[in-house]
Amino acid sequence: MNQTLTIALSKGRIFKETMPLLNAAGIEAVDDPETSRKLILDTNRDNVKLVIIRATDVPTYVQYGAADIGVAGKDVLIEHGGEGIYEPLDLKIARCRLMVAGRKGQQSNAARLRIATKFVNSTRNYYAMQGKQVEIIKLYGSMELAPIVGLADYIVDLVDTGNTLKANGLEPLEHIADISSRLIVNKASMKMKHEAIQALIDKIATAVR
Ligand code: AMP
Repeated sequence: MNQTLTIALSKGRIFKETMPLLNAAGIEAVDDPETSRKLILDTNRDNVKLVIIRATDVPTYVQYGAADIGVAGKDVLIEHGGEGIYEPLDLKIARCRLMVAGRKGQQSNAARLRIATKFVNSTRNYYAMQGKQVEIIKLYGSMELAPIVGLADYIVDLVDTGNTLKANGLEPLEHIADISSRLIVNKASMKMKHEAIQALIDKIATAVR
């Protein structure tokens, strides 16, 4: 494999859970993003680089070809829209659920529910499919606070163990989608660097299984 490949990853859980899959495909990071401030990490392969960026920026880098390949949560991909991107592989890592949650025991009779979330597109689609008109309040974090201080009736957020909801007096109410991280590929790269990318996908797919 001589073609150069740039792989976009975010720090934290996605990096930690993706590296064993890349290792199985013969790619090892030379630096650790948790301790290094470098945004471009070398690997044991001269022709493979890792770029370390925010999770929500990964689809954008891949869409524009600044990275050939990336790993992004399905939640992030739904919000991005998927333009210019192939999604060939479910890596089955960083699994969680996108859910509606609200205050424990509380029922809202508001004619037009207010929903606080950073997942605006997923939330809009979910309520549109039910024919419900809702007001979506975009937040960037700490969504759990919104129903407690009366900013919103409900929130739409990622739930893993449910501990964060519980610690804030909230409970999961409705399941919107199962979420996991996906391997994504720039559409032009998939054509131009087909051999290298397909070989990598095949090795990662075997490691996932
Ligand atoms: P938990 O308390 O285990 O239910 O985790 C919920 C918190 O972790 C929420 O703030 C979520 O936004 C975040 N979270 C859980 N799973 C994921 C994931 N797979 N990717 C990103 N954030 C997550």
